Amino acid sequence: MRLVYDEIYGDHLRGIPHAESPDRVEMVAAFLQESGRFDDVVKPRSATDEEIERAHTPEYLARVKSEIDALRGVAAYLSTGDTVVDRRSLHVAKRAAGGAIAAVEATASDNRPSFALIRPPGHHAESRRGMGFCVFNNAAIAARAFQAAQGGRVLIVDFDYHHGNGTQELSGRGISYVSTHAYPAYPGTGSADENERTGEDLIANVPLPTHDFGTEAFLAVWKQLLPLAAAAVRPSLIVASAGFDYVAKDPVGDLGVAWSAATPLALLVADTAAEYCDGRAVFLLEGGYNIAALQESVARVIDAFDRPSEVTTSNAEPAAIPQAQARILERVAAAADG
Ligand SMILES: [Zn+2]
Repeated sequence: MRLVYDEIYGDHLRGIPHAESPDRVEMVAAFLQESGRFDDVVKPRSATDEEIERAHTPEYLARVKSEIDALRGVAAYLSTGDTVVDRRSLHVAKRAAGGAIAAVEATASDNRPSFALIRPPGHHAESRRGMGFCVFNNAAIAARAFQAAQGGRVLIVDFDYHHGNGTQELSGRGISYVSTHAYPAYPGTGSADENERTGEDLIANVPLPTHDFGTEAFLAVWKQLLPLAAAAVRPSLIVASAGFDYVAKDPVGDLGVAWSAATPLALLVADTAAEYCDGRAVFLLEGGYNIAALQESVARVIDAFDRPSEVTTSNAEPAAIPQAQARILERVAAAADG
């Protein structure tokens, strides 16, 4: 699996105490290096203003630039929401969006999967509002870049603990969005009432309890949800908003899901991409704040693609889906059919 990485990703919030820390990519990159998983690496360019403005308003981009330019102290919140920025943040955020674009471009050219080990994350960033540690919506920017180059539909698959309010807002016109997330939890959006089917576009939220959902139930939901969404959308590309804060003991999230879940989750994405889009699957790092769990999870995604016959998954029958989620999946299936 190709990796997209740049040392610059450690420069945002360096030396500033924050859960969304440089360690999240630097310690993962070091772990992948030590374990022999870091030899196929692409160094990205920065996203251009034009590419960013496919997802964000020019006013928002100008605001981010002027607020970071005007920084007097070491760091401050963006005026639009709970995203801390420092002097390097604009540069790093543009390179993160560029990393997402580089991953999509490379995968589109050779149908090999990519994992972009990027930060700051993106799925909370709306067209005119950065929030939730996010500055630019990397997934939406990359999906729009793919559409500009190739046309076609993109399915964004978001398994982060949190709802990607930004990506949902930016979906439509060929971008579909499917998400599991804790609910009610930050950012407060993502109820099943927000689900819609407009033409060939789909928004499918399956809210989960905020804690103790468990590994088997989590995987059982995705084993129904992803094939259902892919059959409805028939995407040309799958972009996974890969947040690993669903893992048990994550200090920010925690759905009580085992580290090992990343293997069947990645195999499911791989199978779905093989069925619908010649294997074109791109993973973009979103959340995940337990560094050891992040290292293990990213390594498992890479191994699922590179050594699928060697990775072990349970042969057990899929667990039953809890009633609340089963009912929502029925409604998603009905909407997807209609
Ligand atoms: Zn998250």
